[in-house]
Amino acid sequence: MTLALVTRFAPSPTGLLHLGHAHAALYAWRRAREAGGSFLLRIEDIDATRCRDEFTQAALVDLVWLGIEWDGPVRRQSAHLDDYRAALKRLSELDLLYPCFCTRAEIAAEIARAGGAPHGAEGMVYPGTCRRLSAAERQERIASDASFALRLDVAAALARTGALHWTDEMAGEIAAEPARHGDVVLARKETPTSYHLAVTVDDALQRVTLVTRGADLFAATDIHRLLQALLDLPVPRYHHHALLTDAAGRRYAKRDRSLTIAALRQSGRDSATVRRMAGFVNPAAGVVR
Ligand code: GLU
Repeated sequence: MTLALVTRFAPSPTGLLHLGHAHAALYAWRRAREAGGSFLLRIEDIDATRCRDEFTQAALVDLVWLGIEWDGPVRRQSAHLDDYRAALKRLSELDLLYPCFCTRAEIAAEIARAGGAPHGAEGMVYPGTCRRLSAAERQERIASDASFALRLDVAAALARTGALHWTDEMAGEIAAEPARHGDVVLARKETPTSYHLAVTVDDALQRVTLVTRGADLFAATDIHRLLQALLDLPVPRYHHHALLTDAAGRRYAKRDRSLTIAALRQSGRDSATVRRMAGFVNPAAGVVR
């Protein structure tokens, strides 16, 4: 029996949706609708310092205006922190987490001292400084009220899981190499999750079978695959699509205010025009991209 296709769009409400978001949302929505499956909407709002409720509200308005209907309730990550706490507890019981007290400046200095290290997909690859702290040192620093992040001991995790693979519809079978990201942050003292943990837990809890998202997140999937193996979660298929770029080949970003869906709507464009600008043409209309 094959499972019905379930896709999702998962914006972070840190600004207004722009054409790149519309492209991603329309792609996931179309895949679900073509297959008679479900399309889910998830708001990735765990970063309380950057996310704003007004942007969540604006995203819902924009999606409805674009003609994108989602199935079931919207999942807001900030309302499900217990799910992430449960996953963290499991990883902690496996002895795969450690507290890291380093500031960004300390990490940069440590990397420079070691003669410079390669940068991972998200910037600096953490050199593992706090992995070497003794249990007593950890206790002492936590007791002193220091702020900290919880990092995954990736080498220990991989020793447990062995080699891992995942499948991208475009790129085929991928051998996961999570170690190139270093010991990633999975939570912080005040926030029981990070993007990597929340996205992995949610895709499983929401029973997503096809994760579609921009190619900028391709490398991050290696980390998600490792977390799936550690937490015994199902492994969805992936489709990383090219990022929409402007005429000059630059990818759309939140700074391009004139290309937000709201600005385009206010300038008088209708939704069919904006869908076309987002690189999406309704196949039922018989127009080829
Ligand atoms: N929330 C992420 C973003 O807005 C997308 C996460 C994902 O699709 O996995 O970039």
